[in-house]
Amino acid sequence: MTATIDKPVKGSAKKQKHFDSLNPATGDLIETHPISTDADVAAAVERARDASAWWQAIGFDGRKEYLLAWRALLAKRLSELADLVHREGGKPHADALLEAGLAIDHISWAAKNAKKVLGRSRVNSGLLMTNQMAYVEYKPLGVVGVIGPWNYPVFTPMGSIAYSLAAGNTVVFKPSEYTPTVGKFLVDTFQEVTHGRSALELVTGMGETGAALATSGVNKGAFTGSTATGKKVMAACAETLTPVVIEAGGKDSMIIDRDADLGEAADAALWCAMSNAGQTCIGTERVYVHEEVFDTFMTELLTRARQLRPGYEDGGAYGPATMPSQLKIIKSHIDDAIARGGNVVLGGADAVGDRYVQPTIITDVPEDSIAVTEETFGPTLVVNRVSSMDEAVRLTNATKYGLAGSVFGGKNALDIASKVRSGMTSVNSVITFAAIPALPFGGVGDSGIGRIHGADGLREFTYPKALVKQFMPPVISLTSFSRTKKSEQLFAQLIKSLHGGVSGLLKR
Ligand code: NDP
Repeated sequence: MTATIDKPVKGSAKKQKHFDSLNPATGDLIETHPISTDADVAAAVERARDASAWWQAIGFDGRKEYLLAWRALLAKRLSELADLVHREGGKPHADALLEAGLAIDHISWAAKNAKKVLGRSRVNSGLLMTNQMAYVEYKPLGVVGVIGPWNYPVFTPMGSIAYSLAAGNTVVFKPSEYTPTVGKFLVDTFQEVTHGRSALELVTGMGETGAALATSGVNKGAFTGSTATGKKVMAACAETLTPVVIEAGGKDSMIIDRDADLGEAADAALWCAMSNAGQTCIGTERVYVHEEVFDTFMTELLTRARQLRPGYEDGGAYGPATMPSQLKIIKSHIDDAIARGGNVVLGGADAVGDRYVQPTIITDVPEDSIAVTEETFGPTLVVNRVSSMDEAVRLTNATKYGLAGSVFGGKNALDIASKVRSGMTSVNSVITFAAIPALPFGGVGDSGIGRIHGADGLREFTYPKALVKQFMPPVISLTSFSRTKKSEQLFAQLIKSLHGGVSGLLKR
């Protein structure tokens, strides 16, 4: 929760200069931060641009050293960072530890693989150009503006920050107004490692500061948050033809086949739906279970779900809603599911409190309910039965989103997973793709564009550069006004012999 007492009032001439970040469970002050103005953002971008020359000049090996030193420092201060994430975002300490640990693993992967993925590599120059050596290399874009969310304030922005830096860009980071202190911790530790250089800069504030960053002249924007704000960021970036990677929301499903391990599936569905108070873009929001195993699955699910208690202190399965305004949305989804005939089996109409939401499971919810069509971002789960896996895939794909999801099953599970229209699907586990640094992370449709993580995530923050070097004279000289009739004929013959064979399609 962030103090609104100090927030700039829309349309008000007098703007506040600072805002308070509060613990969403206790209301305690975490830290007061400046609201960066347009001028502050421009200055931060300028500092990052100045640092670019140094950061690019030290090359992949130099950057790797700094990034690995940052990784080591963060690993050393892991529990301090996890404690801060716990206090500022409200999630259990163990969840914060998991998030920060995975982020550190990504820094390591990006640092160690950037040279291999992005460095100069030879490609086949083809028969027509056998006298040429052809290469491709991936060059940094310049300064990347990263706008981060509050739900995973370390892990999520790190997918853009570490991969951008490893690729040779410098970064200006604007964390969410709900988790600015975590953002500051990340930037401060990186600056400690780089002895105060501006390869990673911080700006803090509300949406206006994010908007200023999007239009500040950065060479690429990297946004994580809601689809609606993602569209605004993209529109703002379009003014200057600034490319942008958007990691937005989702409405992920878990598909459960009749040959699945139902205990494992229930355990995973519950955790993926409820952990972090359901505030996970790749969380399970819908479950489609084969009707033959529906009842057994529900028994397994409810046995576990009845034991869950939210809370801030030790033993709480998940914390409060980090962003109070989300409570209204969660309640509206539950109410809509009930009004349309959904069957509440846990929680329900009274589940949404002042800060916490009790675990809520509703079955047989009509597919046009907003509890099925819109991102809920709360500890709720819709469980619907299906008569076949084709139906499960069809319903899963009948959404404007396409972020991730999971399939639990036996021999057909991988093929079912492949039919899901989403950027990432795991089989017999949940969200494991996020913990494998070599895999790309991102969605389709309203879930966003572009990728972080993996080789694709490194390339996302670069532009490809083609290089070609002639090492002997061409057999047929084509790119000269002195080319002869003979070389023209030779070229025509060559094309015919290379490509003129009759294809099977033409024979028919
Ligand atoms: P937003 O999309 O509004 O915010 C995400 C980030 O963008 C924050 O840093 C925010 O700053 C910043 N921002 C806000 N307005 C602008 C703007 N006009 N230009 C540039 N940056 C801007 O999400 P919310 O935090 O308000 O959450 C709303 C919903 O979004 C949630 O209910 C959830 O459904 C979804 N969401 C999805 C996430 C995901 O992981 N995909 C993460 C977070 C939210 P500030 O916080 O200071 O306003």
